[in-house]
Amino acid sequence: MNDGEPTSLVSLDRITRRLDELLDIGRTEDGGVTRLAYSDAETRAFEYVQSELPTTYDVQIDSIGNFFASVSHEADQTTLIGSHLDSVFNGGRLDGALGVVVAMEALDVLSEIDASPRHPPTLAVFRGEESARFGHHTIGSRGALGLLTVDDFSRTDQNDVPLWLAMQRAGFRPSDLSEPTICVERIQQFFETHIEQGRVLDEADDVLGIVTSIRAPVRYEVTVTGTYDHSGATPMNLRSDALAAAGEMVTAVENAATDVEGVVATVGDITAHEGAINTVCGKVTFPLDIRSDTINPRDAVEADILERFADIADCRGLSVSTDELDRSKPVSLSSQTVDKLDSTVYALDIPYQRLPSGGGHDAMNFQKVGIPTGMLFVPSVDGISHSPYEKTYPEAIEASAAAMVRVLS
Ligand SMILES: [Zn+2]
Repeated sequence: MNDGEPTSLVSLDRITRRLDELLDIGRTEDGGVTRLAYSDAETRAFEYVQSELPTTYDVQIDSIGNFFASVSHEADQTTLIGSHLDSVFNGGRLDGALGVVVAMEALDVLSEIDASPRHPPTLAVFRGEESARFGHHTIGSRGALGLLTVDDFSRTDQNDVPLWLAMQRAGFRPSDLSEPTICVERIQQFFETHIEQGRVLDEADDVLGIVTSIRAPVRYEVTVTGTYDHSGATPMNLRSDALAAAGEMVTAVENAATDVEGVVATVGDITAHEGAINTVCGKVTFPLDIRSDTINPRDAVEADILERFADIADCRGLSVSTDELDRSKPVSLSSQTVDKLDSTVYALDIPYQRLPSGGGHDAMNFQKVGIPTGMLFVPSVDGISHSPYEKTYPEAIEASAAAMVRVLS
């Protein structure tokens, strides 16, 4: 970084120390972290962040536990910057935490140089971004924006604890669900730094990525029903093998999405019900996840896949049913914020590219309600994500903090 520039004040040591100290909260034996939504560990991580902030900051915690810190909450308009602190089971040290720590660093540098930005920044830390505990994502940011539903609040965790009770146990009092918990009109723009969670940047040797859009899934639970038979006594031509049919369907999913620009389709699991070595399996279920950053090609691949499923079932004389679980709209991030990040990163002479985000993030909710939103990605080494082995490069962390300093100045 150039001396004399505010970005030269970015301290990689300070960022690394904070990431290490956060990792110690909920650290697992493998060196990963488990900090589930509304758990004690998540709460302790929030307390840690507060303990690191200058006492001059004005801190506000909303009714569902989201955390906002600013030099002053008096300004008419603010730029929100931050991410989340919860994790999946045995997740990595960077997912969420990096975006929070980079935002803290940017605010630290701005106060060190006594900057007075037009829209003073507010550090925003959201509860429950991961769906690991309640099966639904971005609880905190959706709640902040009034996007949670009654159904969301009654979703339960692995121990049948509903979300509303987990919130109460963590000390919060959610009230009117449809109302934002924060003053949305004050938010001029929102920025988030996050680890990519894929291998696009790492393969390209880019140091940063600028997110243009956030892919959203259509999801199904697929059930293939054939006939249970004895594996020794039933000749091949008399079978109605659900597992063999499902195998063909999994390959069909891959074929349907291959070579369709911007669409990915995945079968990430499969269950052979009452499967055994000596049985022709009669019932198989598997989930199907199709994503894109634009709706039309996603719809086309979806229709193609469903048609292939029907053909395979037809040919084999068995039945297939598809239960829709989710249909979310992809989000295009505002060109205003995307271009701002682009010119900033370009000016810092950092190798970068624009790319869509494969995963959902708190950022998408801000864009959904019309707040111009920008996201920076740092590379995931070897694409590893949601794992103790999640890593990025020190220069990428430093570059992301420098970019955020400039964007907020
Ligand atoms: Zn995350």
